[in-house]
Amino acid sequence: MVKGCIFSIEEFSVYDGPGIRSTVFLKGCPLSCEWCHNPEGQDAGIQIVKSPNGCVGCGACFENAVQENGKTVFMERSIKKCPMKLLRYCGKMTESTELCSKLLANREFLSDGGVTFSGGEPFFQSGFLFECLEQLKGKMHTAIQTSGFCESAVFARATELADHFLFDLKLFDEAQHIKYTGVSNRLILENFRFLAKSGKDLTVRIPLIPGVTDTYENIDGLCRLMSESGIYYAELMPYNKMAGGKYKLLGKTYSPSFDETLTPDIRADIFEKYCIKILVL
Ligand code: SF4
Repeated sequence: MVKGCIFSIEEFSVYDGPGIRSTVFLKGCPLSCEWCHNPEGQDAGIQIVKSPNGCVGCGACFENAVQENGKTVFMERSIKKCPMKLLRYCGKMTESTELCSKLLANREFLSDGGVTFSGGEPFFQSGFLFECLEQLKGKMHTAIQTSGFCESAVFARATELADHFLFDLKLFDEAQHIKYTGVSNRLILENFRFLAKSGKDLTVRIPLIPGVTDTYENIDGLCRLMSESGIYYAELMPYNKMAGGKYKLLGKTYSPSFDETLTPDIRADIFEKYCIKILVL
């Protein structure tokens, strides 16, 4: 039995796949998208986070912390020592059986819905993910929200187990993908084409980042990819201006290279040219 590290379970979610859903957020992601609004999902391990609101500056948390690679790492005793109770764990280890029995107990409240595994990147903990999917198969509708970044054999196994995929398509150009997410999109595009061909339920999601993903060239490239793969529906996610909010909790600085004050372009005409229906979330 593999243990998984999760950092949140959101109940009654209506944006993470069909119907009403429980969304499980797994820790760990191989990408580092500049616009990531879930930075607590990037690191694979349990972290201690500190809320900046309400701090009286007594310094007790720092007295009980260690320095690692120039960064302050809070310890369990830092949590205990803060008089304002501003520090907490982010991430919890759990067994798949424990998580699945919790999810199955809520089944009757999730009309037309089910469970969505999100992150981070769920495939970062593929062993744990597959154990959960195996236990839920046939009992509950399952979806995976993914960047598509994983080995093709791992992805193929997921298509046998999950009912639905929410697949993020970000940047069509490989160099741009590396620049803004830190990884090549070669595996992602390969997995996307495989998934589209498999006939599995698939929802494409495109984050609209001003001047990065909303350019004419990028949207045209993504539309061409979708059209060639027989996919004619996409959900657009305009840049979340609150994206930087959680970085402080982790002691990180949010400094995107794009102009986050701009409003992203929907590019409806390009989607129309390729007969792709869109929904702006
Ligand atoms: S211990 Fe709590 S109140 Fe004191 S400096 Fe740290 S976070 Fe602020």
